[in-house]
Amino acid sequence: MYRTHTCGELRIEDIQKSVTLSGWVQRIRKLGGMTFVDLRDRYGITQLVADETTNSELTRQVNKLGREFVIQAIGKVIERSSKNPNLPTGEIEVQLETIKLLNPSEVPPFTIEDETDGGDELRMKFRYLDMRRSIVKKNIILRHKMAQEVRKYMDSQGFLEIETPFLIKSTPEGARDFVVPSRMNAGEFYALPQSPQTFKQLLMVAGYDKYFQLVKCFRDEDLRADRQPEFTQIDCEMSFVEQNDVLNTFEGLAKHLFKTILNYDVSENFPRMPYQEAMEKYGSDKPDIRFEMKLQNLTNLVKGKEFMVFDNAEYVGGICVEGCGEYSRKQVDELTEFVKKPQIGAKGLIYVKYNNDNTIKSSVDKFYNTNDLIEWGKKFNAKTGDLILILAGEKNSTLNALSELRLEMGKRLGLPDKNIFKPLWVIDFPLLEWDEETKRYYAMHHPFTSPKQEDMDKVESNPGEVRANAYDLVINGVEIGGGSIRIHDKTLQQKMFKGLGFTEEEAYLQFGFLMNAFRYGAPPHGGIAFGFDRWVSLFAGLDSIRDVIAFPKNNAGRDVMIDSPASISKEQLDELNLKVEVKDKS
Ligand code: ASP
Repeated sequence: MYRTHTCGELRIEDIQKSVTLSGWVQRIRKLGGMTFVDLRDRYGITQLVADETTNSELTRQVNKLGREFVIQAIGKVIERSSKNPNLPTGEIEVQLETIKLLNPSEVPPFTIEDETDGGDELRMKFRYLDMRRSIVKKNIILRHKMAQEVRKYMDSQGFLEIETPFLIKSTPEGARDFVVPSRMNAGEFYALPQSPQTFKQLLMVAGYDKYFQLVKCFRDEDLRADRQPEFTQIDCEMSFVEQNDVLNTFEGLAKHLFKTILNYDVSENFPRMPYQEAMEKYGSDKPDIRFEMKLQNLTNLVKGKEFMVFDNAEYVGGICVEGCGEYSRKQVDELTEFVKKPQIGAKGLIYVKYNNDNTIKSSVDKFYNTNDLIEWGKKFNAKTGDLILILAGEKNSTLNALSELRLEMGKRLGLPDKNIFKPLWVIDFPLLEWDEETKRYYAMHHPFTSPKQEDMDKVESNPGEVRANAYDLVINGVEIGGGSIRIHDKTLQQKMFKGLGFTEEEAYLQFGFLMNAFRYGAPPHGGIAFGFDRWVSLFAGLDSIRDVIAFPKNNAGRDVMIDSPASISKEQLDELNLKVEVKDKS
């Protein structure tokens, strides 16, 4: 038997027990004639002690151990003289009687403790060592618990977990596909699913009216902190439902997770905010509603005073930052630099300060008099001591920049509290999105999303105005999930493909299987998918999803531990009937 207890288990009640522990040596300290060892496993750390005066041979053996050696320790639990209140096992230690070396270790490339000297790259290369750190471990455990609670809730609601294939053909979720060559079908490729979207719809046609799956999805897109080329969704679909049914069911899931994982009560219904309102008030379709600082549209108020920046702008809008009227020149310059960053893309920043001495100072004093500025202030309910920040330009990009500025100011003032959660549904998304570059519409969600019944007559006459039965769950400014009621009518689906620029042939080639299925009694259906990694990282209070994934990829999509992607052998290529010619390996 390797162990009677784990390294996280023993307490003051266990004093006098003879125990056997197995684990890794985290640290060794010598103090006078005593040697202390921190022994670690998945469950915690227990201090072992050897005493030179009572057992010199054993102490000699212990002194020879090194970091990360795997040992078995046999001894007696005793009360510690100096207790460690930060450790669950901190009141006891194990007085060693024998130790057995199970496996030595080379000196690890970085210190495996919460405070580590290992840089990101190094820790990723040795991720299995990084994962021994409790700081990583607790995220992996949280992830496991959330997955269990998701399954419990979904099962309690009558959902069936059904697996769908990975070797499929393209599913349009707006990213590039990862492709896999087929040995048995020379020259042909599978695509890895960007989501199980079409399969879950087929499951509805098959009559499995409540489906869910914790499933890997694959999207070849540029990576950011909250993106990975492979990530996990809680993918769900239901039949015979309207939007309300879907939202209520999954509001239930969210509340269940808040309660069971965080012991956090959200008793009120999640607000439901139309997309249009979210854009106007927050400049974003994933508003962080933990704080106010709402946007105000000033476009009509500011035109016609010879200030060309405003006169030529499609949209002028701003935010009022409470109590920042005293911002110095330098601080305002910093904000100007912030909004001019390429990711934010504003051309400049206009300010109005409602000073404590009751004067008003702005960067556009030449064009607007005090009365004008008082009028602007009224729009925001600005008080003495407040600062108004204004951006102008093309509508969507200016809203987007204002949203970033709002978040930045919120952060500076410490307004969003990590311990508070404000979920909401954003609903009524536009069905289509116009792309200036290619001069065509794209499905904002995906091409299977149903237009709203009330907007059906605009599908052909005014497609840009059509709203969809599509919804997102947003928590604290993070898009946790999204879905829609689907089109289940073959003719409407064909019309949609056409509107999106597919020829009949292309649509049939790509989605013929779905269109065929729709010929045999497709029920009305709808669903949603949640980004599981994002949800876990939100609950863990982290900004990056990498920290909640056991073996993540880096920003270049590489797994630096196994060194992948990698080239393959000539034999493998031959078998696959492939010849590789790298055009530009930059
Ligand atoms: N398949 C969609 C996605 O991955 C979610 C859905 O519509 O259910 O975003």
